[in-house]
Amino acid sequence: MADIQTVGGCKKCGSDAVTCKYNYFEQGDLEIHSWEHKCIDCGHRLTTAYRSDDEDIDFAAEQVNQCPYCQRIGTK
Ligand SMILES: [Zn+2]
Ligand SMILES: [Zn+2]
Repeated sequence: MADIQTVGGCKKCGSDAVTCKYNYFEQGDLEIHSWEHKCIDCGHRLTTAYRSDDEDIDFAAEQVNQCPYCQRIGTK
């Protein structure tokens, strides 16, 4: 189940029709937390995904369940 909320404040066009989507996926040792902000009016999109097998990040130290754009906490 994706957790989607309307957050508004598009950086590109100023629209309030921006959705914030949190997706959580787990399989065995792999965890993926993905965040997407998308403006319905202009299509501007921002995405970030945290993977537990990504060696470039310190997964345990990242706030993976917190949106990097609007700082809300996602619910699984
Ligand atoms: Zn926009
Ligand atoms: Zn957000």
